[in-house]
Amino acid sequence: MPSKKDTLKAVWSRYRQEYLNLVTDLEQMVVVVPSDITDLRLKIADDPAVLNLAKQAIHTLKGALGSFGFRELSGASAQAERLISTAAQLTGEQIWQLSELIAQLRSTLEAASDPASATLALKDLTRQSSKSCDWLIVSCDMELTEDVIHQSSVWRLDTRVATTASEAWAVLSQHSPDVIVLDLDCILDCVDEPCGLDFLHELMLQHPTVSTIVMSAHDSLSDRIQAIRAGACTFLAKPVTSVQVVETVTNRLAQRTQPTARIVALDDDPAILLGLKRLLTPLGFQLTLVSDPLQLWEAIEKTVPDLLILDIEIPEFSGIELCKVIRSDPKLAQLPILFLSAHSDAEMVSQVFECGADDYVSKPIVGPALVTRILNRMERRRLLQKLAETDDLTGLSRRRQAVEVLERSLKLASRQKTTVCLAILDLDDFKQINDHYGHEIGDKVLKTLGDYLRQTFRGEDIVARWGGEEFMVGLYGTPKNIAVERLERFLRAFFQHIFQGVLQGNNQQRFQVSFSGGVAVYPTDGTSVQQLYRCADQALYQAKAAGRSRILPAESTQSSCLEG
Ligand code: GH3
Ligand code: MG
Ligand code: MG
Repeated sequence: MPSKKDTLKAVWSRYRQEYLNLVTDLEQMVVVVPSDITDLRLKIADDPAVLNLAKQAIHTLKGALGSFGFRELSGASAQAERLISTAAQLTGEQIWQLSELIAQLRSTLEAASDPASATLALKDLTRQSSKSCDWLIVSCDMELTEDVIHQSSVWRLDTRVATTASEAWAVLSQHSPDVIVLDLDCILDCVDEPCGLDFLHELMLQHPTVSTIVMSAHDSLSDRIQAIRAGACTFLAKPVTSVQVVETVTNRLAQRTQPTARIVALDDDPAILLGLKRLLTPLGFQLTLVSDPLQLWEAIEKTVPDLLILDIEIPEFSGIELCKVIRSDPKLAQLPILFLSAHSDAEMVSQVFECGADDYVSKPIVGPALVTRILNRMERRRLLQKLAETDDLTGLSRRRQAVEVLERSLKLASRQKTTVCLAILDLDDFKQINDHYGHEIGDKVLKTLGDYLRQTFRGEDIVARWGGEEFMVGLYGTPKNIAVERLERFLRAFFQHIFQGVLQGNNQQRFQVSFSGGVAVYPTDGTSVQQLYRCADQALYQAKAAGRSRILPAESTQSSCLEG
């Protein structure tokens, strides 16, 4: 067995290389543009995206070196960070100073083969084996914390409570929790103004891998942005109940215990790829970066990813086209696809969903937001694998499984503050088809509709045979109008299909089949599967009454579907 010292050395040598890579990135970004000898400029000052990456890199270095005990280097990085943050206004002298600081980082890191002071970091890295605390709540709201302790005992979670910042640091010096819940408004030993955010900053520096859930009564957009920027992964607006807190914590814990996920990312902008690498590798994702769309297919075949990140604008092909190609392969129909885009106009969003993607994140990438989205996609994927048990005739999921998945989707949507559309489709005059052409041809129509549904709705969509000649489509994160449009297009496509049957006593006949549909959306039309079904069914009834072969959105204000 290797000694503790050897382990320490091994850990350090691995991390040292990563930090050296960061320094290399910085060296490449902090290049002086010698356009005019008297007017030095930094390359990063001209490109906000690269500037951001440089800021991230130096910030990571500062925190990491500090936690490995390199106080001096951490100080040098702090100085470099200040200079980089004002990159556009630096004097020539400051620019050389910055280059020297980076050079200092490199030479010291290269020389430091064995950090005597790396114990702190080692504790963090080996916490899996010495774990005795799942999560920590930092709040002086006694009523809430007492309830929370009770709740978490139900979930068999090992919970610690700290009411002051110093208590929290004391706990953190003994244990490395996976999740921390931080009450931004209520930490007892804040001398002046609420110091929750300062605590959060320091926490993320010292424990960069912990998932932090913050809660606050100040929940304006800018409050939320501040918290997310400081490193929080979830924001709970007060008042919050103990059940909410514990549920959020268990979700987080569940996400953290996932096996390493493989991600393939395609973007022609190396700065974006570098940013993704910085962001996702430390979290344990196995990342394959591709800058040439022609190499995407090979990368997918080789790595069999759990998630694909695509850029919309790539030279030669559009990301949308690539997404369609991927979806056309049955093996990849379920692969979660997330788009990165500089645009977020309605047209683009509708195209993104139309081509079979599951989500989009707009650039510039906000780290924690992207990570949350990725983890949520993974959770959805696991959920969808439940749908594997299928109906014999159509090969679609059965109602029972679909309801289970829908229910959990609603919960997820409530946490993510997004929509879920539930559509009920019912074949038009299907009894007549059975009567005219026989039950077997009727079965063929059902099977064909099943095939069309499976080919059209993929990825995260939920498709099921609800019963008889009724089908259900669940569209996660899709607005109602887009759901209606997609179903209308689907109806037109299905209606193009020519069936053949023999009319009693007659020759072969060609015929077409239509269906009608009603669409309800969570949370506007209902908050349970039952309510949504009732609402969608009412809209379906109206579609039938209006002449069939159409999709109608539920109008929750007029209908009584919210009752009960
Ligand atoms: P509407 O446009 O109002 O929906 O009229 P419809 O004829 O489609 O509706 P109705 O509810 O009157 O008839 C549904 C028919 O679907 C009756 C039933 O025999 C048939 N059906 C249900 N399940 C199956 C099945 O698995 N195979 C076949 N071939 N027919 C089925
Ligand atoms: Mg029916
Ligand atoms: Mg029918």
